[in-house]
Amino acid sequence: MDNKKVLLTIFGGTGDLAQRKLYPSLFRLYLKGQLKESFAVIGTARRPWTNNTYREVVQKAVASLAQTPEQAATFASHFYYQSHNVNDTEHYVALRDLADQLDEQYQLAGNRLFYLAMSPNFFGTIVHHLESQGMITTDGYHRVIIEKPFGTDYNSAETLNAEITDVFSETEIYRIDHYLGKEMIQNISAIRFANNIFESQWNNRYIANVQINIAEDLGVEERGGYYDKSGALKDMVQNHILQVLSLLAMEPPIEFSEKGIRQEKIKALEAIRIYKEDEVKEHFVRGQYAAGKRNDQTFASYREEENVAADSQTETFVAGKFYIDNFRWSGVPFYIRTGKRLTEKGTRINIVFKQVPVNVFKTSINEPCEQQSLEPNVLTIYIQPTEGFSLSLNGKEVGNGFDMHPVKLDYRNSSEILENTPEAYEKLLLDALNGDGTNFTHWDEVAQSWRIVDVIRHAWDHSTAEFPNYAAGSMGPKEADELLEKDGFKWIWSP
Ligand code: NAD
Repeated sequence: MDNKKVLLTIFGGTGDLAQRKLYPSLFRLYLKGQLKESFAVIGTARRPWTNNTYREVVQKAVASLAQTPEQAATFASHFYYQSHNVNDTEHYVALRDLADQLDEQYQLAGNRLFYLAMSPNFFGTIVHHLESQGMITTDGYHRVIIEKPFGTDYNSAETLNAEITDVFSETEIYRIDHYLGKEMIQNISAIRFANNIFESQWNNRYIANVQINIAEDLGVEERGGYYDKSGALKDMVQNHILQVLSLLAMEPPIEFSEKGIRQEKIKALEAIRIYKEDEVKEHFVRGQYAAGKRNDQTFASYREEENVAADSQTETFVAGKFYIDNFRWSGVPFYIRTGKRLTEKGTRINIVFKQVPVNVFKTSINEPCEQQSLEPNVLTIYIQPTEGFSLSLNGKEVGNGFDMHPVKLDYRNSSEILENTPEAYEKLLLDALNGDGTNFTHWDEVAQSWRIVDVIRHAWDHSTAEFPNYAAGSMGPKEADELLEKDGFKWIWSP
């Protein structure tokens, strides 16, 4: 079967995600020959656009990547528009007729990929109509890509999942977490499983703590309405952070396959300690930004942002500590930190190694004297905006004495490589076309992540936060620093 002969139907085809991410990603696949002549795209949304208007929008979305305007136009000629209200059954009939016609015209062998780039409220309706109106009865494969958020808590996620699995089987469902498409996230497995020096140390005997940071310098921009109902815990921790954590913590898979990796990720998530509500206060810190300054720029507070309630209790920052109660990780804190309007944008992971058993280096050769302080060895994985990794080691300062100082072995991808790095959405679309679900989230992972996060959410919902509590442009409230200090640690990344 040629997986890439396909009809892609994008629900929400006029939306921001489609224009900013999906069309450029499809175009990159087209430039690389992954999509050839046999593909067609139906964009559907409420607006009464014509094919021509739609194609102009697509051409504009890919213009900066095209070598010539003709190239963009040829690509866009594969795109068809169908005005459609997803709640209206009649429209699925028109959609099916267009789908059948394109199937014939482009010889697509009945392969259909549906991309739900719309509000999750509509997912249930869409998939049921796809079935009842005969859109998924063709000979080829039928797959559905689902955008985040997948539910707003465990119960809503379970309801949503039941609706989708009524129609599609788990292997046909591709739940997007675009972090899993990022080059360096995928590299976590390479670093761990292809380097004996790390894998042999990757446990509670040698690692003191792990720190996962996803920092944003931006505020909520125009997403205030959505964000104020979500907050950082649901927007970042339930999905991206717990996914990264599971990749860092999982056991080596028996084989590097979708099934092998998934099994181990699920086991890691299941070993994360679920706190009781009264433990949340001790292990988690929430924050919301006040007005502040970075360099010469001044920023308004979160509560002053557009579409945000003036007394909002929504957190724009979360720091916390997870424990993984298994043989490998018992006793090792996994600290996480994410927030908006922080000092600097960056996603990076720090693996902080334990100190040597005895520090033999004194401040002087004469007695009595103190021990020199030794910095811990740290492996840092940079995910964005730069990609790469570094390892900090202690070396001897050049000179007569024996002064220790940290040196850094640094590997960052050059800008040239970065330019050629496939975008996360490009990689994930290609995976979905190939039927490879490795870098998508399985229902069991989603379910367990919600169980972990729901308790934190409930604890917070039952108490009033003293917001705002950190200045825009800082790295969050001081309690986030104290969280590590009380364990004898500090954030390695402190811009
Ligand atoms: P958007 O508001 O820009 O687009 C929504 C689309 O849905 C539009 O095309 C609109 O016409 C269509 N639509 C709305 N109601 C409809 C109806 N009743 N019938 C038919 N079409 C209807 O939203 P977006 O930013 O593109 O986000 C889409 C999805 O992707 C959301 O689930 C969002 O959470 C997710 N997402 C978006 C981004 C992003 O960068 N924009 C990132 C991650 C996840």
